[in-house]
Amino acid sequence: MPHTTIPNSTAGPQRVVIVGGGVTGLSAAHRLDDIARAQRRPIEIILLEASDRLGGVIRTHRRDDYLIESGPDQFITARPWAVDLARRLGIDGEIQPTTGPHPRVLIGRGARLLPLPEGFMVMAPTRMWPMATTPLLSWRGKCRAIMDLLLPARREDGDESIAAFIRRRFGREMLDRIVEPLIGSIYGAPLDQLSVRATMSRFVELEQKDRSLILAMRRQGKKRSSAGAGTGGPRYGMFVTFRNGLQTLVDALTARVGNFARLGVEVRAIERTGTDAPRYHVALGDGGRIDADAVLVAAPGPSATKLLSSLDEALTGSLASIPYGSTSIVHLAYRRDQVGHALDAYGIVCPPDERGAVNAASFSSIKYPGRAPDDMVLLRGIVKPDRCDGDASDDSLAAAAHGQFSEWLAIRGAPAFSSVDRWDRVLAHYRVGHPDRIAGIEQRLEQYPGLELAGNAYRGVGIPDCIHSGETAAERLAGGLGSRV
Ligand SMILES: Cc1cc2nc3c(=O)[nH]c(=O)nc-3n(C[C@H](O)[C@H](O)[C@H](O)COP(=O)(O)OP(=O)(O)OC[C@H]3O[C@@H](n4cnc5c(N)ncnc54)[C@H](O)[C@@H]3O)c2cc1C
Repeated sequence: MPHTTIPNSTAGPQRVVIVGGGVTGLSAAHRLDDIARAQRRPIEIILLEASDRLGGVIRTHRRDDYLIESGPDQFITARPWAVDLARRLGIDGEIQPTTGPHPRVLIGRGARLLPLPEGFMVMAPTRMWPMATTPLLSWRGKCRAIMDLLLPARREDGDESIAAFIRRRFGREMLDRIVEPLIGSIYGAPLDQLSVRATMSRFVELEQKDRSLILAMRRQGKKRSSAGAGTGGPRYGMFVTFRNGLQTLVDALTARVGNFARLGVEVRAIERTGTDAPRYHVALGDGGRIDADAVLVAAPGPSATKLLSSLDEALTGSLASIPYGSTSIVHLAYRRDQVGHALDAYGIVCPPDERGAVNAASFSSIKYPGRAPDDMVLLRGIVKPDRCDGDASDDSLAAAAHGQFSEWLAIRGAPAFSSVDRWDRVLAHYRVGHPDRIAGIEQRLEQYPGLELAGNAYRGVGIPDCIHSGETAAERLAGGLGSRV
């Protein structure tokens, strides 16, 4: 097998190696290239990707007239970096907002599907009447929830779990019956393990500033609507995607920076050579080596841990302590007349004790019209293989999802087709104490000028956060390289 060996030439441009061609690595390469062009600086970018394609977990495929998202299927607009990048790439015209007629989520409660109270925003209610009338909470639970209006802000400074935060502000019932299904299904982990500061820092800040989350959210809502008055309101809703799927973003980035990429090249280790340039050896799986002035590791935490293990034990010890979860996505297509339910929502979430094999479901072709032929519906389920009967094969995952959908949505007969995608250890879980862990990692990294880490292990798991993480890491690298010329 040929070895890839690229030594550095002292006279040539400075070389930056980016490890990982997911959205983080691609955004980093794009930002670095922009800086190099704008400042007319000779920077050679090499992006190494172990698999045979760019995009990482973002993968859209078409099957006949269906559009299927194997991994993520949308992104949040409140974190602005994905929309900003889309604008810079000239693909913002392709952005598709959620336009289904019933913008709401259903919560599974026994055999019933009950709507999330109108105006409920992520972790807090903003409207009183829907809260007062929701059958999701008992009267006792409702009375406890509105005590948020009276309770003081937390005095202690440290981190706490999302569960502790919600229990403190709104009580146990609201946690178990509303917030846990809603947020737990996004993060794929129990809320008593997840850090509120790492995942929902905005709510921590609101509590410190305004004390009551209900009042704070209502105030924000009013501000937003008066700012929007006369301007047509905010351009996008809370979640968006692209008309032809999230692959549009990957394709646009690939068109700009794909020429820097080498596919099928796995990085095995990153070693420091000394303090002079080139500062790092990037050891490759094929036995080859690339010398680099700077390295940006945009691979998920478990891969980053392996790559850096010979460089710094303390750093990789902290990295290794960030757990990563696995998940599977099942898509099922049905004729509309097979489905007894009105599908008057965007999807279903479920409290952990009510969950079968499906953690959460999305009515893909209702939420984002155009993803299935008119007389069909495309449903998407996040499935936990360990909760499926049988051998956890693709067929048994699809059967488990079909069983659960049939029960929820009164479906008659078999699906027209099913499609299963499995993701192994790709999504970081931010445990309580995560912000301190990341501060420790960043402090440790200061000993390694020209080495940066970016991706979903650090400061946000969503696509916009990963883009931001890649772009800011690229800016820091460019700054560091600039100070050496
Ligand atoms: C099933 C699923 C659903 C999701 N849903 C949403 C959603 O709806 N909205 C949202 O905003 N976010 C969602 N997320 C999260 C978000 O998609 C990811 O956090 C983000 O895309 C991660 O991008 P990344 O580039 O950091 O990592 P990845 O996409 O994992 O890419 C990392 C790349 O690095 C490569 N690599 C790894 N090790 C090496 C090595 N040693 N050498 C070379 N290459 C290597 C891998 O092959 C991979 O291509 C979802 C994630 C998953 C898995």
